[in-house]
Amino acid sequence: MPKILRLILGDQLNRQHSWFRQKNDKVLYVLMEVRQETDYVNHHIQKVIGFFLAMRNFAQWLESQGHHVLYLTLDHPDNQQCLDKNLSRIIKENHIDLFEYQLPDEYRLDEQLSIFSAHSSTQVRVYDTEHFLCSREFLGEFFKGKKTYLMESFYREMRKKYDILMDGREPLTGKWNYDHDNRNKLKDPLLLKPAKTFRRDVTDLVELLRAQGVATIGDIQEENFEWPVTREEGLQVLDYFCSKLLPYFGMYQDAMFTGDAFLFHSRLSFLLNSKLLAPLEVVEKVEKYWLENQDAVDIAQVEGFIRQIIGWREYMRGVYWAKMPAYAEMNFFGHKRKLPQYFWTGDTKMNCLQHAIGQSLGKSYAHHIQRLMVTGNFMLLAGIHPDEVDAWYLGIYIDAIEWVEITNTRGMSQFADGGIVGTKPYVSSANYIDKMSDYCSGCFYNKQKKTGEKACPFNSLYWHFYHRHEDKLTKNPRIGMMYRTWAKMKDKEEILKQADYYLENIESL
Ligand SMILES: Cc1cc2nc3c(=O)[nH]c(=O)nc-3n(C[C@H](O)[C@H](O)[C@H](O)COP(=O)(O)OP(=O)(O)OC[C@H]3O[C@@H](n4cnc5c(N)ncnc54)[C@H](O)[C@@H]3O)c2cc1C
Ligand code: SF4
Repeated sequence: MPKILRLILGDQLNRQHSWFRQKNDKVLYVLMEVRQETDYVNHHIQKVIGFFLAMRNFAQWLESQGHHVLYLTLDHPDNQQCLDKNLSRIIKENHIDLFEYQLPDEYRLDEQLSIFSAHSSTQVRVYDTEHFLCSREFLGEFFKGKKTYLMESFYREMRKKYDILMDGREPLTGKWNYDHDNRNKLKDPLLLKPAKTFRRDVTDLVELLRAQGVATIGDIQEENFEWPVTREEGLQVLDYFCSKLLPYFGMYQDAMFTGDAFLFHSRLSFLLNSKLLAPLEVVEKVEKYWLENQDAVDIAQVEGFIRQIIGWREYMRGVYWAKMPAYAEMNFFGHKRKLPQYFWTGDTKMNCLQHAIGQSLGKSYAHHIQRLMVTGNFMLLAGIHPDEVDAWYLGIYIDAIEWVEITNTRGMSQFADGGIVGTKPYVSSANYIDKMSDYCSGCFYNKQKKTGEKACPFNSLYWHFYHRHEDKLTKNPRIGMMYRTWAKMKDKEEILKQADYYLENIESL
């Protein structure tokens, strides 16, 4: 029997993988904390700590199951801080005959390991991660020849394929989509439940990062790290979500509230993206909970949640593999502006941004609508370069891994892909933000004013965006009405002047 080295990347912590079903004394598993990964973007400190803790716990679990494990900590004397350098040394020193790895989810790692394998004198075998519902190629094949990939048709295909909320070929409740029932502002804060958190002292790890000079962003409470980092904890978060949060999930999915960062969101993205939990087990658990508790949970909440996981999440991965590497260069609007400094401090008079950014720096988390309709909306209206946008999102969130970050950022949020992911840009004035949140009432700016003193910047930038991109957007059938409204507006000049002034003074907004 040959000696086998199996690489486990930091986002491949899948205990249910077929690799681990049998013990084999000839197999050595390797996990590494490397500067290559801590430094490719400026990460939030909670993100680095979260991944390192999850990896360390996973290595311990493997050992407890009788597997052989080599774990390279960041300060290990033999650590050369780069995947291929470490692999070459380990292969040589351990007389490895066969190197095995699971398909990476990120393009850059996929390239790196392919090149390494091509040059390696050792035999190489590649495995699936056994995590996603579709192969990398499925979506590209499903939409072959189409310019726009319609998420809804992909989602329905997934529902049928995995028999989720289905009665044969038809939706179990007669309707595929309950999106229209799911757009409420939070009016009763007493409904809110505390998030399911954990308590860990991570002082040692924070010290390690400091001693090694790893540059990070954001804050951490060293004696009280709250994120779940083991499968057991992940399952507790899932149980808590079903019993406490699911009943209101869909209803308040788009709501934003200064008093609570998480509302009824599941906080499962890190657990899913690190593969501590599997998408199918999550949706099956949620479906089962609903079937057994239909008096407490209605279908709109459940369908809304399941669509995010088997719809959006799988769909984004499919778009990523169908369109990379070109996707990372797309800049449909030719936006060039630098990201204002307050994205790194939260120090702005715009209350919505202050909250969304402040919370992201404090918790390494913002929910979907904060990412899309506050920070992303502002970046798009202000014409920030998509590279700057990507670097911010990829660094700041605990769940940010390129395949799901870039498709959301360049695609859904910035429309930099010209309409592959979405059919129109997600932009709004203060109107939408005020409708869905309590931000505007505490703001320095006046949500109703487009021009003049203290006019909300979103209001003039909104029209400025449409005006400056008229040639690119006017033919879009979903936008035509906006241009008809704009044409009739009497104060166009003043609005554009106000927006120009704000853009020139963007750092002091
Ligand atoms: C600009 C922008 C950047 C984003 N970057 C990331 C990212 O780096 N990583 C990431 O996992 N998600 C990203 N998202 C999607 C979404 O915002 C997060 O998945 C969600 O906020 C995570 O919190 P939660 O687990 O509480 O989600 P919930 O609201 O409870 O949703 C449940 C799950 O559905 C999945 N999901 C929901 N929306 C999406 C979506 N649009 N794409 C893919 N999966 C989705 C996630 O796995 C999430 O855990 C981004 C969205 C936007 C608009
Ligand atoms: S008034 Fe404008 S800047 Fe202030 S919170 Fe509302 S949308 Fe944001």
